[in-house]
Amino acid sequence: MSKLEDIVSLCKRRGFIFPGSDVYGGMAGTWDFGPLGVSLKRKIMDAWWNYFVDSRDDMYGVDAAIIMNPITWKASGHTETFNDPLVECKACHGRFRADKLVDNATESITTEEFLAANVKCPTCGKTDWGDVRKFNMMFKMTVGPVADDEHIAYLRPETAQGIFTNYKNVVDTIYPDIPFGIAQQGKAFRNEISPRDFILRDRECSQMEIEYFVRPDAWEEAFEQLLKEYHFFLTEKMGLSANNIHDEEVPAEDRAHYSKRTVDLEYDYPNGREELMGVAYRTDFDLSNIAKASGKSMEYRDKNTGEVFVPHVVEPSIGVERLMLAVLAEAYTEDEIDGNTRVLLKLPADLAPYRFCVSPLLKNKPELVEKARTVYDALKAKYGNVTWDDSGNIGKRYRKQDEIGTPKCVVIDFDTLEDDTVTVRDRDTAEQVRVAIDEL
Ligand SMILES: [Zn+2]
Repeated sequence: MSKLEDIVSLCKRRGFIFPGSDVYGGMAGTWDFGPLGVSLKRKIMDAWWNYFVDSRDDMYGVDAAIIMNPITWKASGHTETFNDPLVECKACHGRFRADKLVDNATESITTEEFLAANVKCPTCGKTDWGDVRKFNMMFKMTVGPVADDEHIAYLRPETAQGIFTNYKNVVDTIYPDIPFGIAQQGKAFRNEISPRDFILRDRECSQMEIEYFVRPDAWEEAFEQLLKEYHFFLTEKMGLSANNIHDEEVPAEDRAHYSKRTVDLEYDYPNGREELMGVAYRTDFDLSNIAKASGKSMEYRDKNTGEVFVPHVVEPSIGVERLMLAVLAEAYTEDEIDGNTRVLLKLPADLAPYRFCVSPLLKNKPELVEKARTVYDALKAKYGNVTWDDSGNIGKRYRKQDEIGTPKCVVIDFDTLEDDTVTVRDRDTAEQVRVAIDEL
């Protein structure tokens, strides 16, 4: 098995991530988070919110509706340009992303370039292709009881537009000093032609985005600063190794239609280097388009100098699932203890679903169970995310807690009844030390 398959298997076995609609045979490009997965996911999202919003004075949060007025996507350019190159095999009618079948191709690959590469159909092996055409990745839907063209809307393909469309509301109610940022976490939807690599490229994902509003001449400084802060967040808060993260300056022809500079932060995933997140300079593209489409002014008036201008924007954007897969890949470890291979997740303690596991050495000794319960209750009251395990033997419990990333296992034995000390076993070293209960 590849490392990615090992991670997928652990995620399913231990209740982190299941295929979406599993009971009905699945739904391509969707995943469901189980009890431990939702715990990890929320901790990642909370750590981000805490670091980028709550601990700062220049960030404000919003939570906009997922279904937005379709004018939003005309003004933002998504209706016109949010496309992937689609190609169909005339023999078997398989549909593929053209740029993914040709080495070093970009999303702007033409029919001529595609045909010149002489690609065989991955399904049937033939080379009878139709033209490369643009496929819009927004999920279309109708709103209300009438299903005609007048009532078409879309599931949002990014959370960013929910921020831009609330820029004026925030400015008129909060009066923030520039520079300032507006942050949002939430679901976004992309009708990927071929979802793949587990939760890396899925059709429904969660994004964490910031639009950071600056004076037009101050974007470069903000860009560098945010880039630096994201590196800190990824390494110090998410536990990713700096040498697994690579800054890639995106060349003009590959940049999104709105961007004047983009740096992708790529991560060394188990199946190779892939985009983890991006920082993009979006100029005043969005606010100016909204001003045109809505007829409302998006100008900012500086309270101190009286200057009036349309702010420019630097946008760091990261997908929760992509980040979660990086955190899992970084934490996934196999080592050997007493000649046996062991699997463990070396998650940072703040991200682990459980901080402690408490167990009585034997579950059929009421005095041990009772003592263990008092220790469990005390830790639970203090930390919240503490789990109880009295199943199987102690070795089995350790193996399970290693696999779900619990940093410390606390075991209550007969000595505890004598001297109020417990065994604390460390996940990473498997070492056990004796600790007094009131020092836990
Ligand atoms: Zn085919």
